[in-house]
Amino acid sequence: MENVFAERYTDCLKVVKFGGSSLADAEQFKKVKSIITAEPGARRYVVPSAPGKRFKEDEKVTDMLYQCYNLSSEGEPIDSVFDKIIERYDAIVNDLGLDLDLSDEYLHIKWSIKHHAGRDYAASRGEYLNGKILAEYIGYDFVDPTMFIKFGDDGMFDAEMTNTLLSTKLAKHEHAVIPGFYGSMPNGTIKTFSRGGSDITGSIVARAVSADIYENWTDVDGFLMADPRIVDNPKPIDTITYKELRELSYMGAGVLHEDSIFPVRVAGIPINIRNTNNTASRGTMIVPRTDMYDTRSIITGVAGKKGFSVLSIEKAMMNSETGFGRKVLEAIEKEGISFEHLPSSIDSMCVILNTHEIEECRERIVNRICATTHPDYIAIEDGLALIAVVGRAMVKAKGTAYRVFKACAESDINIKMIDQGSSELNIIIGVNEADYNRALSAIYNEFVK
Ligand code: ASP
Repeated sequence: MENVFAERYTDCLKVVKFGGSSLADAEQFKKVKSIITAEPGARRYVVPSAPGKRFKEDEKVTDMLYQCYNLSSEGEPIDSVFDKIIERYDAIVNDLGLDLDLSDEYLHIKWSIKHHAGRDYAASRGEYLNGKILAEYIGYDFVDPTMFIKFGDDGMFDAEMTNTLLSTKLAKHEHAVIPGFYGSMPNGTIKTFSRGGSDITGSIVARAVSADIYENWTDVDGFLMADPRIVDNPKPIDTITYKELRELSYMGAGVLHEDSIFPVRVAGIPINIRNTNNTASRGTMIVPRTDMYDTRSIITGVAGKKGFSVLSIEKAMMNSETGFGRKVLEAIEKEGISFEHLPSSIDSMCVILNTHEIEECRERIVNRICATTHPDYIAIEDGLALIAVVGRAMVKAKGTAYRVFKACAESDINIKMIDQGSSELNIIIGVNEADYNRALSAIYNEFVK
């Protein structure tokens, strides 16, 4: 298939983010440089992660920095772990033949970790140092995000302030490397996003410079239509909308940090997942709408998760009792828990909850519901797996739900719950955890093969 993306987007403005495995050693840095220099007019803003794993048993620099922080907060020496970090960076600098001396940086970072600069500060130095090296290697300016990516006093990311500060700053730099993963609190202390958060930085930078595209370079060819540990050789997803991706990521389809969608979504910027180790693959395009792209199959992907519980409540004439649902949900809300789904019928209602979230409070929830609604029957059953069948083309296709049920029935799988949102973007079914793998494969095979 022709590369529509390449035709449409050459020589536009791209923000490129490289994940930890793409920058794990000097060889990977060389690949990154050739990717950037292949389109120097377009790939002008680069967001690096910290060095990741070079091989399966290897350690990520970020993990080693967390170790340093933990040791230091227990009053233990950090030297042996910190030396391993220095070794990783020095090997990259030397193997690239760079004339860059980071020894003052190492001293300062080590001193700061020992003198309580904080957990987030420690973790952020992985990206900071990698950014320094990458900027030197490709000849781009280094822009430290500390002053430009801001969090509020409540620790929440301040999207609007960041966008104003960062776009003003980056307008002054034709080319820049901006380390991923961190910014700062109003008082200037370093604050990181959650793990994998360099994806979010890339998205923030893309919005700030009004990029035409946010390229997220990683070590896989993009999203797959199903989990390859369950389905043999699932097909790659060519194009997916933000909304579909959100449904699939929520159900556990990894690759991209969930929160990285929001900044580019606001600005309508597409994300292209690409593979640093296989530049020939066009990867997955994540787009606001898909009318510019053809839709090849009815479903875009299928994903799921185990570990759910069903709270079932029955009461005669429930449907005519005002406020019944509110009382049930209030009992759950009082425990600070949010519910996942709410399938119901005339005289019964089910609430799907995350099993681990109700471990401590299941009895309290049941008691509270009994006290406020006096049900005929109430029970919590564990061991439910949810499967989301996601596809923008489902709106127009007839018989999609039928095919999902047929696939399960033919594999002798009992569907315990069904939920189809009015957007018709997905159908969610609940099955016994023991049937999860078979159900996922059956549904995939029904639509894809
Ligand atoms: N280095 C951080 C982590 O390992 C952030 C990232 O790579 O995106 O989580």
